[in-house]
Amino acid sequence: MRTLGHITAMPELPEPLQGLRELAYNLWWSWNKEAAELFQEVDPALWKRFRGNPVKLLLEVDPARLEGLLGTGYPARVQGVLQALRAYLEERKQKKGPLTAYFSAEYGFHSSLPIYAGGLGVLAGDHVKAASDLGLNLVGVGIFYHEGYFHQRLSKEGAQVEVYEPLHPEELPLLPVQDREGKPLRVGVEFPGRTVWLGAYRVQVGAVPVYLLTADLPENAPEDRAITARLYAPGLEMRLKQEMILGIGGMRLLRALGLAPEVFHMNEGHSAFLGLERLRELVAEGHPFPLALELVRAGALFTTHTPVPAGHDAFPLELLDQYLGHFWEKLGTDREGVLALGLEEKPWGRVFSMSNLALKTSAQANGVSCLHGEVSRRMFHHLWPDLLPEEVPIGHVTNGVHTWTFLHPRLRRHYAEVFGPEWQKRPEDPATWKVEGLGEEFWRIHKELRAELIREVRQRVYEERRRNGESPGRLREAERLLDPEALTIGFARRFATYKRAVLLFKDPERLAKILRGPYPVQFVFAGKAHPKDEPGKAYLQELIGRIRELGLEDRMVVVEDYDMYLARLLVQGSDVWLNTPRRPMEASGTSGMKAALNGALNLSVLDGWWAEAFNGKNGFAIGDDRVYESDEAQDMADAQALYDVLESQVLPLFYAKGPEGYSASWLAMIHESLRTVGPYFSAARMVGEYLALYQRGAEMARRALGAAETLEALHQALPAFFALGLRVEAPGHLTLNGEPLRVRAWVEGEVPEALRPFLEVQLVVKRSTGELEVVPLAPSHGGYEGSFRPPRPGSYTYGMRLALKHPVTGRVTWVRWA
Ligand SMILES: *Cc1c(COP(=O)(O)O)cnc(C)c1O
Repeated sequence: MRTLGHITAMPELPEPLQGLRELAYNLWWSWNKEAAELFQEVDPALWKRFRGNPVKLLLEVDPARLEGLLGTGYPARVQGVLQALRAYLEERKQKKGPLTAYFSAEYGFHSSLPIYAGGLGVLAGDHVKAASDLGLNLVGVGIFYHEGYFHQRLSKEGAQVEVYEPLHPEELPLLPVQDREGKPLRVGVEFPGRTVWLGAYRVQVGAVPVYLLTADLPENAPEDRAITARLYAPGLEMRLKQEMILGIGGMRLLRALGLAPEVFHMNEGHSAFLGLERLRELVAEGHPFPLALELVRAGALFTTHTPVPAGHDAFPLELLDQYLGHFWEKLGTDREGVLALGLEEKPWGRVFSMSNLALKTSAQANGVSCLHGEVSRRMFHHLWPDLLPEEVPIGHVTNGVHTWTFLHPRLRRHYAEVFGPEWQKRPEDPATWKVEGLGEEFWRIHKELRAELIREVRQRVYEERRRNGESPGRLREAERLLDPEALTIGFARRFATYKRAVLLFKDPERLAKILRGPYPVQFVFAGKAHPKDEPGKAYLQELIGRIRELGLEDRMVVVEDYDMYLARLLVQGSDVWLNTPRRPMEASGTSGMKAALNGALNLSVLDGWWAEAFNGKNGFAIGDDRVYESDEAQDMADAQALYDVLESQVLPLFYAKGPEGYSASWLAMIHESLRTVGPYFSAARMVGEYLALYQRGAEMARRALGAAETLEALHQALPAFFALGLRVEAPGHLTLNGEPLRVRAWVEGEVPEALRPFLEVQLVVKRSTGELEVVPLAPSHGGYEGSFRPPRPGSYTYGMRLALKHPVTGRVTWVRWA
């Protein structure tokens, strides 16, 4: 049949079960086991088949099954869980912090809503869930991709095959958004020669609404409807269109909803066009461009997520002219003025970088771990060439994971018993993690979860082999893969080359020796490669090939279609979580935090979050933080370090089993891992830190509005600032024996009145180990003078400068070095 349309006949739920619908339309159910169990019990087979999608379950379930539940205790349980959801929402009626719009191109809430590709999306999902738990005043903005992200199949040869399944909004927890007259809400975005119309769905995530845009509307031409079909659809032009929809369309949607956020949080640069749209609004209200830019910046926050260059979108200027050319005149400046916001010089020419745009339109910016903050400051130093790298205005907020999403419910219940009632209320508080009480019962649950993982891996591999038409012998083998008692090492993440999934195979002989040694050890791998990432796909196939060559298929298993469901299974069932990125390419990484929550120990390169978390007692480090001459040298050194630590630490420690059936030293390490990772690397702690940034953003936005005249005058006077000179009297090279360094300076030229309150003459001293000291000089005899006494011996460099502090942020923003 040629399909003409899709219809959905909504079910009539028996009155005592009506509450199921309310529960199905709030993703709160996904982190509350009692709610999920209600759905599962309706029909366990359908529940599994629909990947745990309650809306679809209620659509498709046989009404007789629902009738059958009526005479049991089931309806009362529905009522109970519904009460719990309503109480949860009631407690969060009073919102915390300023109204904040959170923009993300992807969201990973649950495997049944596949509009995420990986870590970035899952992080956005966790951010929203934790914001809900904490009662933040947040709204999410994103895109509903009606073909979602692909499902991964592995061919018989181990090649990745991408399968897209159309998603039907009626079968998902999506509510169409209506305007004030009750008609479907529409906003338009100008594209060359046409307007692309957008509608939106609301997804309720606990107390936080998330609005997902769609271009799949009858009003649009077929090619425009396809813009929102696939997450990270290939091609720069498609990317540009999607990002215009997210940034510009997202802003217009908020306006159409009557929302006036004080703070805008860009999760990655995909949404950075929202800055241009806000500029357009402010210029239309009569503000000149430089002031409008200041007002936009004050309330904006940008989180950058990767040091990998390909992770930063950059568009050719011609493409930008074609799509956004009409925008320039509406911004009260010229083409160059707008392009300057995103310009980036590449060896092959000038491009427009979305990360640059996001940075130049945000007063606050951050990386996602301490190390990544530092790497980002260096990476973007070229945007602030006059500042020192340490002064580049990018801080860090280390990522965290949503405890209730990734902690297995059985462990959650056990922890609740052992840790006491405060823990579930404040998982971010280290004092609530009373880990010493975890022992035999904990280990019993852990072993169950490992066994469940292995059962599911066998089933999945069986299905895969059956689908690929493999022999009966191969099918039988699938049923015996892995050993439920053996130390199980999990490795699951995107197959990007820098994550080096094949590091383990650098020295196949050594690997084989470990695997044939006295201690049973096995590996489970999973991960998708981006459809356009050919090297990533080659890596995946190479991994599968190596395992076969070495005859290790019973001990090293690759499972297809990594998603949030499989991620949970893996982090909950593994003993060790392996992570081998090429330092410092892993901005944070989060799967290791999920594994730690469930009592696995991390075995990881000291990159991203692990560089911050590792303390020598809470897991294992691969290699050190040395810098290598080449990738090849680093790969070889890290591979050797990995074998060493496996042989000499991980295996002997795990198998030092006592009469209780587990190793006491291993358990002690788990205690330390839970104690250090559980509270700090939680999304609750992370969102708490973002709340402080939101509050600061709102405060700066108000201050910028109040300082409009000051800001305008300052911008007018800036050219005069750059014409000023600084004459200095400094001793040059000097050896100090306890006495201070003394300097003097004179400003040459007339300092405009508007700049005086913000101007400083500074002595800047940098220790060879990196610490920075900025000493403002005091006016004296028509000039300035000051001194610096080194706090300890060592070697220092110093310089002097004229510095202008920003009236809103208070940060040194414009400088003239002597
Ligand atoms: C947590 C998670 C990730 C991110 O893992 P990393 O360690 O950051 O690579 C990716 N995909 C899924 C499905 C996840 O749940």
